[in-house]
Parts: sequence; C-alpha cells; structure tokens
Amino acid sequence: MYDVIIIGGGVVGSAAAYYLSQHDLKLLMLEAFNDVADGTTKANSAVIHAGYDPKPGSLMAKYNVEGSKLTRELAKKLDVPYVNDGSLVLAFSPEDLETLKELYDRGIANGVEQLKLLNYEETKDIEPGISENVYGSLYAGTSAVISPWEYCLALAETAVRNGMDLKLSNEVTGIRKNEDGSFTVTTVKGEYQGRYVINAAGIYADKVHEMIGQKEFTITPVRGQYFLLDKSQFPKARHTLFQCPSERGKGVAVTPTVHGNLIVGPDATRVNGEDLDTTADILSYVRETASLSIKDIDYQENIRNFSGLRARSDRGDFIIEESHSVPDFFNLAGMASPALSSAAAIGIAAREWVLSKHPYPKKEDYVDSRRKIRFKQLSDEEKNRIIKEDPAYGRIICRCETVTEGEIRATFKTPIPPRSIDAVKRRTNAGMGRCQGGFCGERVAMILKEELGLDYDEILQDREGTVVLEKKAKEDYGNV
Ligand SMILES: Cc1cc2nc3c(=O)[nH]c(=O)nc-3n(C[C@H](O)[C@H](O)[C@H](O)COP(=O)(O)OP(=O)(O)OC[C@H]3O[C@@H](n4cnc5c(N)ncnc54)[C@H](O)[C@@H]3O)c2cc1C
Repeated sequence: MYDVIIIGGGVVGSAAAYYLSQHDLKLLMLEAFNDVADGTTKANSAVIHAGYDPKPGSLMAKYNVEGSKLTRELAKKLDVPYVNDGSLVLAFSPEDLETLKELYDRGIANGVEQLKLLNYEETKDIEPGISENVYGSLYAGTSAVISPWEYCLALAETAVRNGMDLKLSNEVTGIRKNEDGSFTVTTVKGEYQGRYVINAAGIYADKVHEMIGQKEFTITPVRGQYFLLDKSQFPKARHTLFQCPSERGKGVAVTPTVHGNLIVGPDATRVNGEDLDTTADILSYVRETASLSIKDIDYQENIRNFSGLRARSDRGDFIIEESHSVPDFFNLAGMASPALSSAAAIGIAAREWVLSKHPYPKKEDYVDSRRKIRFKQLSDEEKNRIIKEDPAYGRIICRCETVTEGEIRATFKTPIPPRSIDAVKRRTNAGMGRCQGGFCGERVAMILKEELGLDYDEILQDREGTVVLEKKAKEDYGNV
C-alpha cells in the first residue's frame, strides 16, 4: 500500500514528487512513457516567466510568481542549467505601448520585481538586434531560461534517490475506490494500491480524472511549433523577446536557450489528441511574425523543428484542487503555460494537500543535492585529472556538444537511467548539436546497448516501439 500515487512524470508531477519525498511516506510515480520529462515538459519555450502576464487573483499569477523564485533556488541546488537572461515584451504601435502599461500594472499587482517600461532607444541599448518597428518594451529582470527536461529529471531523480518508486512504461488504464477508501490504480503492467492519488497527467488529466470521477473539466491540446537554430544565431538575441499581445494575436517569441541556441516560436493551434506534427504553413507564419522583432535571423541555420502541446483547460486557469466527486484524489490539471515556471510552487501545494490529510513527518536524512560532470565546462586541470581517473572522459562521443563517453556512461548510474538514445540526449546533450546526432547517434546506441544488455533490435530512439534497427543490415549484426 502506497501513501501517495502520482500519475504523470512531467515537471508538475515531478515537482510534487520532489516535495513529497521530503516526508516519511511511501510514494509511487506511474508514468506512461519510458522516461520522465517526455511529454509537454520537453517541448516548450523553456522560459521561467516573471509573472506579469496572468490576471491578478488567478492561480496562474500566484503560482507563477512564487514558482519562478523557487525555480532559481532549485536550479542552483540540483545543478540544472538556468540563465537569468531577462525578458522584453516588444511594442509595435502606440496602442501596444498602452498594453505594455497594463502588463506592467498587472505585474506590480502580482508582486513581480524588476519591471521597467523602456522606450525605443533604451530597448535598443540593451537589445541591439531589435527591428526598427519597435516602439518600446516592458523589461522583466527576473525572467530566465532553463533546461526544462533536466529540471524535471533533477526533481524526479531526487525523489527516487530519497525512496520514491518510479514505474515507467506504466500507462494508467483504470482507477477504482476500495471499501476502505484507498485506491486501486491499474496500469498496462499491473495494479497498485494507494491512500491518496495525485493526477498530473498533462493533456490527459481530464481522461484520468474521469477514470474514477465525474466530468469536472476538459483539457484541449493547443499545439505550438518552433524553429531551433544553430549556435551561430545565439548572439542575435540577448533577452527572451516576446511580442505585445494585440489583435495580431499573442505573437511569437525569440529566445536564447541555456544551451547557447536560439528558438523561435510558438504559434497556438488547437489539435486533436497527441498531434505533434510540424507544418510548413505554420512555420512560415512563425518565421514571418518573428521578423517583426528581429529581422536578420538566418533560417538556413535551422537545425530542427519541434512542437509541444499546451494542456488548456476550459476554466482558463490552473486546476489545483481535490476532486469534487472523489475524496482523496487531487488534480493538477490545466497545466498550460506558465506551468513550467510555476511547477515548484504547485509541487508545494500538492504536498500541503497531502499533509492536510495526514501529517507525515519530515525525513531527517533527506538528500537534497545533485551534481553532474559537464566535461566541456571543466578547466584543463580538472579535465586532465578526471581523464586520469576514468579514461572514458577522454573520448569525445558528441563532437558538436563535446560530450564524452564518461558523461554518457555516468547516466546509467543515476537514479533514473536512460532507456533510449533521446533519453541520453536529455541527460547529456549528446545529439543536441548542429548534426542532431548524425555522427554520434550510432555510438550512443552502442553504449546504450552495452549498458542495458540490449539486443540490436531492442535499441530505442525514444518512446516504446521506436526501434532504430528493425532488420539485419548484413549477415552479421556486428556489421551495423
Ligand atoms: C508550446 C508551449 C510553450 C510553452 N512555454 C512555456 C514557457 O516558456 N514557460 C512555462 O512556464 N511554461 C511553458 N509551457 C507550459 C509547460 O511546458 C507545461 O505547462 C508543463 O510542461 C506541463 O507539465 P506537466 O507535468 O503538467 O505535463 P507533461 O510534461 O505533459 O507530463 C504529463 C505526463 O503524464 C503522463 N501521462 C498522461 N497520461 C497518463 C496515464 N494514463 N498514465 C500514466 N502517465 C500518464 C504523460 O506521459 C506525461 O509524461 C509551454 C507549453 C507549450 C506546449
């Protein structure tokens, strides 16, 4: 019998897991995919928003502002790439300047610090690449960018390190309430009993709730598409550049990433189910709209397009509450943007709810830190020392991102080892560079095969079923 079962291993479920694992309770996370951070958490703008956008009084406003402060602390503590680059909302007309003033007032009402309205010259001073269409901007000094998947991994890994059971590839298919008030949660792999259930199932949160409760909300996936540009384009924007919301729409952002790339996007298109396609028409809209902010982005330097799905609820706000129809069942739903920024504060809310049900004491021996070797960031002296200790750190596997064999092998000793080539990418950056794994993909596959004791036809690119090698290339598999 578990005390708490969390359904969903995105950043929201993982934040709840992180805070709950600080207490003396039996915790289980059930995740449909073969890795955490493989849903919306891996495909978004990666911005830790300052909090001037949500309406004052909304849950989004409250959790965004609290969450962004907590994220900064957690990133430091858990060794997650995070850069406080600041953001600018750009105005393109006198009417936009009025909207910026409203956003500024909202921000002040929400308790956001370091907000400033800038005119064109002041904006140009700190962001020299902006186009001449710009009238002025709203500067937010607390806005930051993060590695969203590594943030999620860090939270989930820390929970596992502190005793949480994580069952990957365990899609929940049914939930029932037992006579003693506990739940039986059925997955494609088995059955688990729990006293309390937390639903953090992203775009499927409404379906998961309806496995046991009455319909209380609806989630609509709203897709956003992006360009991911090579590092050559990184210097074109120093801040995260948003566009002023207007009758043109919410605009698209141009933002530097923590890995030294530039991303451009997203649009907002309602889709059915898990439609992650990227399409030429929307991408050209994204590109054209972004040119209002910065003109000279070279799209020949695009290295990948991707899309993510916002979990938009019919309430237009986060849903952070106990189910109205099922006691002891807590929904963390409607987790559209800014839920990445808010996740830590939402995790604390989930913990408070559990503790209101039962006062589980804090653990005395909680391990609340995480350190990683990032070879390319070491000094020459440190590099030499580490190679002497383990020669695998002297062998570069990913040449674009300078990722060593030592770093890749180390991931298999972490609390949540990778099970696919993309899972290695999320943990080490191998395959994230200009060639997108063209050169290192095969070498990563061979390390994965060796570390996990796989057969050639069991090597996965990403989720279950994405086998890389289906048939023998030659007589002998050894020739691949
Ligand atoms: C285009 C776009 C841009 C965004 N930009 C930002 C931004 O810049 N800043 C910001 O703060 N937010 C942003 N967001 C929002 C942010 O990415 C999400 O709010 C956040 O990642 C949601 O996390 P989650 O854990 O709720 O969902 P997910 O990451 O989707 O995790 C849910 C998990 O539940 C699992 N699951 C679902 N059903 C089941 C089941 N039946 N059984 C077991 N597991 C199940 C899924 O497999 C998944 O792993 C953006 C979102 C999008 C789409």
